[in-house]
Amino acid sequence: MMLKIALAGNPNCGKTTLFNDLTGSSQYVGNWPGVTVEKKEGKLKGRKDIVITDLPGIYSLSPYTLEEVVSRNYLLNDHPDAIINLIDGTNLERNLYLTTQIIELGIPVVLAINMMDVVKKNGDRINVQQLEKAFGCPVVQTSAVKGVGSKEAAFKAIELAKKGKVLVPKPIFSKPVEDTLETISASISKQVDPTRLRWYAIKYFERDEKVLAAHPLPDDRLENVETTIREVEDRMEDDGESIITNERYEYIEQIVRHSVHRFEKKLTISDRIDRVVTNRFLSLPIFIAMIWFVYYVSVTTLGSIVTDWTNDTLFGTWVTEGATHLLNSIGTADWLNGLIVDGIIGGVGTVLGFVPQMMILFFFLSLLEDSGYMARVAFIMDRLFRRFGLSGKSFIPILISSGCGVPGIMATRTIENDHDRRMTIMLTTFIPCGAKMVIITMFVATFFHHSSWVAPTMYLLGIAMIAFSGIILKKTKMFAGEPAPFVMELPAYHLPSLKGVLIHMWERSKHFIVKAGTIIFIACGLIWFLSSFGWNLRMVEDVDHSILAGLGNTISWVFAPLGFGSWKGTVATISALVAKENAIGTLAVLNGVADEENTRAVIAGIGSMFTGVSALSFMLFNLFNPPCFAAIGATSREMGGIKWTMIALGYQVLLGYALGFVTYQLGSVLFLGHSFGFGAVLALVIIGIAIYLLVRPVPAANKMILDRGQHAGA
Ligand code: GDP
Ligand code: MG
Repeated sequence: MMLKIALAGNPNCGKTTLFNDLTGSSQYVGNWPGVTVEKKEGKLKGRKDIVITDLPGIYSLSPYTLEEVVSRNYLLNDHPDAIINLIDGTNLERNLYLTTQIIELGIPVVLAINMMDVVKKNGDRINVQQLEKAFGCPVVQTSAVKGVGSKEAAFKAIELAKKGKVLVPKPIFSKPVEDTLETISASISKQVDPTRLRWYAIKYFERDEKVLAAHPLPDDRLENVETTIREVEDRMEDDGESIITNERYEYIEQIVRHSVHRFEKKLTISDRIDRVVTNRFLSLPIFIAMIWFVYYVSVTTLGSIVTDWTNDTLFGTWVTEGATHLLNSIGTADWLNGLIVDGIIGGVGTVLGFVPQMMILFFFLSLLEDSGYMARVAFIMDRLFRRFGLSGKSFIPILISSGCGVPGIMATRTIENDHDRRMTIMLTTFIPCGAKMVIITMFVATFFHHSSWVAPTMYLLGIAMIAFSGIILKKTKMFAGEPAPFVMELPAYHLPSLKGVLIHMWERSKHFIVKAGTIIFIACGLIWFLSSFGWNLRMVEDVDHSILAGLGNTISWVFAPLGFGSWKGTVATISALVAKENAIGTLAVLNGVADEENTRAVIAGIGSMFTGVSALSFMLFNLFNPPCFAAIGATSREMGGIKWTMIALGYQVLLGYALGFVTYQLGSVLFLGHSFGFGAVLALVIIGIAIYLLVRPVPAANKMILDRGQHAGA
């Protein structure tokens, strides 16, 4: 017989860690809430008959956001045989609120108190027997990262599930409320599932619209129920829903007082670190310094050594020479040599050459996340963003997008406000993902190798542009509204486990290797073909006579005002829409990298195509214009409509183009000695418009929307 066990709990209490430990899978674990937005299933290690489901984190069973609905619906409608309710032991007060609701579902529950390693280190003690008595279910202490107690929790749950007995919920409310619930129960017992009688009684008491609609009562009984509820409400001077909420908290407070023994302590280490890193004045400089350091190591120093080696020695020499020897000894045709050596090895090899560097970057970003630092950054950003009407909630998708925009866009599901959610989908890919890193790295190596600032600036500029766009968009009717409240538990800092960080790094990187072997492989072959043959399908001596040159030239005027209007630059930009790193693969193929001795040659090739100014403009356009097809697809799915997708893409094109244009036009005047002409004037006008949009007052009509929002919220 198949048994279903659900993992439920607050965000960030370690559910996915426990899930991975129990099932042996490697789902994304992040030290911040909102990482698991969809449910995941797996089989308990060595037990084919036990299915474990990892659910998105929830604070209560009255859902507000999309991923909360996923969890609630699963628990209510999918009838798991048992629930493991995971709880963050360092924060029982908040976590037990959900527990008081879960035990009402009539499903066997095991309470697993996680993070026991931290609890013990703090010197606190939790009385398990007291908790078992308070909630009427078994309680297990676990430390999911260390794999302690996980099995015990699972076995207890299996045992309960096998017995199949429903959990009889403990009365936890005050006498008048319990009496009323009893009256309600008697009136509704024929209408609802008897194992869930108490749950429904409470929902009637709260006047839950969905439940009332699904299980209507005959008029006379409804009246009866109404009268009893109103009596209690009058007596307690509060409405049903608030009474229930308050009494849940009162019960929890009482339980925690009796069952948790706190060690008297001064500031914890986490508190002391937080004093510095979240300090009003220091927080931002510290964040900038961290990002600079991460990029300095992964792009400028260590990373560039690794990339030089993979590009020059591994692909540039060993693989290329090996392949050339092999092909010569077989005696293949010239065109096939060209395709394999120039097209595939040249293009794919160059892109793969950046993978180690990307892994170093991901390693550091994973470190920052797993240690708990990035959660602080979200908090800092919230403080900063809120002043402009943005919510820090948008920052979690942005963090995830620094690996890949697709999961970043999906992570916007945690944002309940539709305006904010759409805006975040639209802006989150401004943060450079791994693939854009390849472009940044290549261009920095070629044009800006003397500056360690250009690469981190691209990351920080991404955040700045998100803030800028947020501010100007919030003033429009389409996106107006109060920023969503952002409540986030700051997890305690902990030393990241090497295994965790490596898994995380690998999860983010493997995707690029797969892409190199598939999409980039095909694209480079195609680019090679189109650039080696003319319209008459004969191989051409000079790439400028190729099919690709012809195609590129027909649209290169579009990019001329940005300074890279050569057909090669145009083709690279277009091919970057397939996958961002394709821009580099394409430039490598077009500059015949594999013919030369090493990557310095591509660099020389690219170097002769761009000036420092047009290189910067190329980079900016490609970082901010619409992301790759995969991310555009995700945008369209999450926006759920062509109109919003077009608005998003339109804005991205506009911003990317404006940045490239201003950079190139003004940069040429300032650094290349071009004369001050029409382009430069237009660039100044664009800057003027941007400043106006930034500082203009909120239009009166939209202010009304804001005010109404405030009243509704109050
Ligand atoms: P979820 O949101 O509930 O799925 O939580 P995750 O599994 O993503 O874990 C959140 C964070 O808590 C991660 O950084 C984990 O490494 C960390 N974590 C999980 N379990 C434990 C534990 O037992 N002890 C400690 N110290 N950290 C844990
Ligand atoms: Mg999770």
